[in-house]
Amino acid sequence: MTDLLTANFADHWVVDPVAGLAGVADVSIVAGKIASVTWRDGEVAARACWAAGANPGAGDPTVALLPALIDLHAHFRQPGANASEEVESGTRAAAHGGYGIVALMPNTEPAADNVETLQAAIAGERHSVRLLPIAAATVGRAGTQVSDVAALVKAGAVAISDDGSPIADRAIFRAALLAAAAAGIPLIEHCEEPTLTAGGEAADGIVASRLGLRPWPAAGELRAVESAIAVLRDVVSSVPTARLHLTHLSTTAALAAVRSAQGEGLPLTCDVTPHHIALIDAWIAGDRRWAWEVASGDERLAPTADAFDSNLRVCPPLRAAGDAAACREALRNGTALAIGTDHAPHSREKKEVEFGLAANGIAGIETSLSVALAAHHAGELSLATIAAALTTGPARLLGVATAGLTPGAAASLVQVDLAGVWRPSRATLLGRSINTPLIDRELPGVVQLTVLEGRPAYQR
Ligand SMILES: [Zn+2]
Repeated sequence: MTDLLTANFADHWVVDPVAGLAGVADVSIVAGKIASVTWRDGEVAARACWAAGANPGAGDPTVALLPALIDLHAHFRQPGANASEEVESGTRAAAHGGYGIVALMPNTEPAADNVETLQAAIAGERHSVRLLPIAAATVGRAGTQVSDVAALVKAGAVAISDDGSPIADRAIFRAALLAAAAAGIPLIEHCEEPTLTAGGEAADGIVASRLGLRPWPAAGELRAVESAIAVLRDVVSSVPTARLHLTHLSTTAALAAVRSAQGEGLPLTCDVTPHHIALIDAWIAGDRRWAWEVASGDERLAPTADAFDSNLRVCPPLRAAGDAAACREALRNGTALAIGTDHAPHSREKKEVEFGLAANGIAGIETSLSVALAAHHAGELSLATIAAALTTGPARLLGVATAGLTPGAAASLVQVDLAGVWRPSRATLLGRSINTPLIDRELPGVVQLTVLEGRPAYQR
């Protein structure tokens, strides 16, 4: 373990979603605790700055301090696929990405459906990063029998999920929702209707048909979301403490359905991934523009030398520019409470194959903040929206107490150079697998320091 930090961060752009304050401030840390935060223009101005989006203006400092980031959805592949990632490499990668707390999905081998595997999934050198295990909702993630949720929660599980697949049987899904409610945790569902998506390689649309890829229709997500909402509505009428979270939503229609259900007052939340807010299916043809740079109908469809990069194979698939815009809008209007990385590292053996045979997933925990900042620099997302989606939003879902940058609290923060740029590569990424389509692309936002509970987890 590293020593407790003592440091003075003078003249930083400080964003604190917990207190709802932003602006130029001096933050001093003594022996791992926040000793003082001095807002240059006072707290009233800092509150107004937060409400206005927490965006720095011309002439403001370009090095920012935020609370350490929290990821509600990552795969560290331990036990079972340590060649792709494990706790030691995953936490190193997370800290490099600015993350101090990471929730791990249970689709390990074997699945984390028992206390022993749940504990094995977070064992090892953690580089001061805190890991929160999510337990399998059903035994073996087979979808036929709900896990012993009470025992798993007692052992530290913060949620249950069969992520990687949906719980297809609706009666089992309902039973899992009830078991999670009884244990005081949320059920996190991967929304996919398998009868519509089996064998799907890319979003149903012009890119898939032009490239000859098998379609994964938007209805495959919408049908699952609608069905989940129907079951939730039914359960909540007798068990109001039930909580359902839909992870990595990717379509305009599904997000609209969630927003409408939230409007009814249902205890429903969702997240979107960095890749679904910033990349589109035309990347599979070789287009390399950010989603917000592409007008609908303006996608480049003629395959280039960059086409069929299997690092773009992901579930749910990348979609049209309009869907990516809907994902960003969901963050702005609060329909989605978090950006979840769905960090899904895969070894070269699983990715260096033809597109349709490649494993699904993008290693994204080291580039998530940079991708969000690319959207910020394009005027698409305010720093307030990004900071909340990466800290207080996921904390709310996972039941994590966050002190933000309050004086007296243990220091958990990330220092990021907003004006700096870097390029992901085997040399710069710290995770074991580098299956990302962003290799060698210039990205904004260089993490300088990540601190969790007073101890540096990453230092550039
Ligand atoms: Zn999933």
